[in-house]
Amino acid sequence: MPPTTPPSKSPARPKRGEGQWKLGHREPLNPNERVKRDDDGLNVRARIENVYSKQGFDSIDPSDLRGRMRWWGLYTQRKPGIDGGRTAALEPEELDDEYFMMRVRVDGGGLTTDQLRVLGEISQEFARDTADVTDRNNIQYHWLRIEDIPEVWRRLEAVDLVTTEACGDTPRAFLGSPVAGIAADEPINGDPAIFAIREKYVGSPEFSNLPRKFKTAISGQQDVAHEVNDVAFIGSVHPEHGPGFDLWVGGGLSTNPKLAVRLGAWVPIDEVPEVWAGVISVFRDYGYRRLRSRARLKFLVADWGAEEFRRVLEEEYLHRKLVDGPAPATPERPIDHIGVHKQVDGLNYIGVAPASGRVSGTTLIALAKAVEAAGSRRLKLTPYQKIVVLDVADEAVESLRSELDSLGLQSDPSPWRRSTMACTGIEFCKLAIVETKERAIRLVEELEKRLADVHPDVPISIHLNGCPNSCARTQVADIGLKGQIVTDSAGNQVEGFQVHLGGGLGLDSGFGRKLRGHKVASAELGDYVDRVVRNFVAQRTEGERFAQ
Ligand code: SF4
Repeated sequence: MPPTTPPSKSPARPKRGEGQWKLGHREPLNPNERVKRDDDGLNVRARIENVYSKQGFDSIDPSDLRGRMRWWGLYTQRKPGIDGGRTAALEPEELDDEYFMMRVRVDGGGLTTDQLRVLGEISQEFARDTADVTDRNNIQYHWLRIEDIPEVWRRLEAVDLVTTEACGDTPRAFLGSPVAGIAADEPINGDPAIFAIREKYVGSPEFSNLPRKFKTAISGQQDVAHEVNDVAFIGSVHPEHGPGFDLWVGGGLSTNPKLAVRLGAWVPIDEVPEVWAGVISVFRDYGYRRLRSRARLKFLVADWGAEEFRRVLEEEYLHRKLVDGPAPATPERPIDHIGVHKQVDGLNYIGVAPASGRVSGTTLIALAKAVEAAGSRRLKLTPYQKIVVLDVADEAVESLRSELDSLGLQSDPSPWRRSTMACTGIEFCKLAIVETKERAIRLVEELEKRLADVHPDVPISIHLNGCPNSCARTQVADIGLKGQIVTDSAGNQVEGFQVHLGGGLGLDSGFGRKLRGHKVASAELGDYVDRVVRNFVAQRTEGERFAQ
């Protein structure tokens, strides 16, 4: 028998790097990395103040306009009148309007009535009375002119509000519990850790060039959608050490959704800033910078796994072991704090639901007045596009509730208003394919009429998103709607949504299923939701939740 020749092996191809700094990939590997290497995004502020605001929109350097201005919470908004079907075909400059969207970060979500009034006045004076409560504790303006930005900053900063790193490849606004420090059932108050991190690290060049955005949630309770954040510290009671936080990493949605994983570590409150800095440092140094689409922390965590991530964090960054800790009990649903509830000090908090987070400067000013008239000066924004008024005495509750009601801020909303969220959508967002905010508002009104005879005893969340980016968390809604062009019942190409059914957080943490054929034209959305809800209610077994 002739000797057999082993099949020739092609030489192993060198593995392509992922652009990780720690492994020596310092050369920028994509245009976004080059922009960041050429100049720190934080430096654009001086140019806005000294040049662009004085010389006008046309003087803005394109790499500042479409890159670094985000480091100060600024994006150009979408030129009106461009339909969603053309979004992908156009160059960025064809989509750019001369007006800006601005995000104001409200770390932990807390506002005083003085701050609220200033936010409202800025909106009226400079932003055509726009103001949205976003699902990341931001207030978002539209229609700002570059000439007005320095004055807007001056007024915001006079009341301790900032836009620093509200967008960009940075540590974005921190989600915190709307009821931190006042809830009877909270194992620990996370707000002091949020403020300590903000004080030390927001605006610091140490973390102003990350591979991509970095989202943080810190709460004593499970009311901050922690499963979809890059890092989260969630209240947990250690059997020996007492109250502290359970550490999660690597959550994120968009086109490759991943739920965060527990590292099995318990962190006492005074160590949260150090551990947070460790996690974000791992991301900065090991995060993937080659492809923008793989640059979020979730990809690194998925490749490494929780054990390896914890090992690197402990050995290379903290230089000590973390304490092992138990998982906190998971509530059936994330807590949204709507309605009237008792605080530990005997006062009350009232959670209200503006329709899909849309308010206005006029509403914010009226809200500040109503809250002060009720004897309070504190509010919170929530990660569910809601507002919670704190510190209301018993005798002021009912009059405040009716005042809030008259402002469109209902404390006893219909299930549809309570559980519907929407992203910015085509009205202002350059990536959008469909309209969302106003569509959501109309949908809620429609469902309140159509489903007046249906009273599901479990919440059914509806999240409208204008594109696959999932800013309003498509995949973790009971009915998740992802904007796209669809064919309607008459055969026309129209705005519509791909439906994801049965996603959730809390006990039902998981992504909704994208059902083939479940695409719905925007104009037919009311019919579709009506049908789905009625079927669910009719076929539901006792105690069954929508996501089960
Ligand atoms: Fe814009 Fe898409 Fe995000 Fe909506 S989901 S705000 S359309 S990027």
